[in-house]
Amino acid sequence: MSKSSSGATVGCAELRSQQDLPSPEYERFARLHPDGRRLIKGWFARASRLHDSGHSSPLEAFIYVWISFNGWASCVTQLDFDRQWVNSLAADHEISAEFSRAVASHVEVSQAARLFASYWPIFEVRHLRRRGLLWHGFSDRAATIRYFIDNGATECEPKCRVRHLTEGSPIPLDWPHTLSALYRVRCNLFHGEKSLQSEDDKNIVSAALTCSSTCDHLTSSSYRMNL
Ligand SMILES: [Zn+2]
Repeated sequence: MSKSSSGATVGCAELRSQQDLPSPEYERFARLHPDGRRLIKGWFARASRLHDSGHSSPLEAFIYVWISFNGWASCVTQLDFDRQWVNSLAADHEISAEFSRAVASHVEVSQAARLFASYWPIFEVRHLRRRGLLWHGFSDRAATIRYFIDNGATECEPKCRVRHLTEGSPIPLDWPHTLSALYRVRCNLFHGEKSLQSEDDKNIVSAALTCSSTCDHLTSSSYRMNL
């Protein structure tokens, strides 16, 4: 079971890695080569400009946010593989607590996180394609999710969302759930097909982008990009 640096576990059991991964050390970003820091901050700034302009596709801006986040996360976790640093960060108590504080104290962050969570779970596009479920014709998200589940779709993030739905329990709007869903959006963008559909449609990517962009509130704290 993955544990945070404080020793406490965070998130639902389904979101915890079975691998023993190192905890992030956020001060590493301050020691990164200045060129590396400049690139990471530059990608994030570029995403913000695209997002604020409102003229470009949310995909491009989301990809820049993710490239920036990937660079920062690889630095602070010293892990090369996306799934590993996602799991390391998801299990970390410090950034989880800062995310919860941001959701509780910043209306924009709260709204963005809640909007993105309204689309959960985000299913794996390849899994839906293999099961012939991509072209379903629903426009309502709840009906779409129900259709996927009723037709045997299981691969999604947050993984525990189907259990929460079955139990009727509210899904925690916390860092591990949010990060796992953001990672699924990122993977779907690179595993999808030419046209946006269902799990990688513009509404979901746009909500993911706004959610990840509002984490700008964390850049001077958890993300520590402003060092
Ligand atoms: Zn859960």
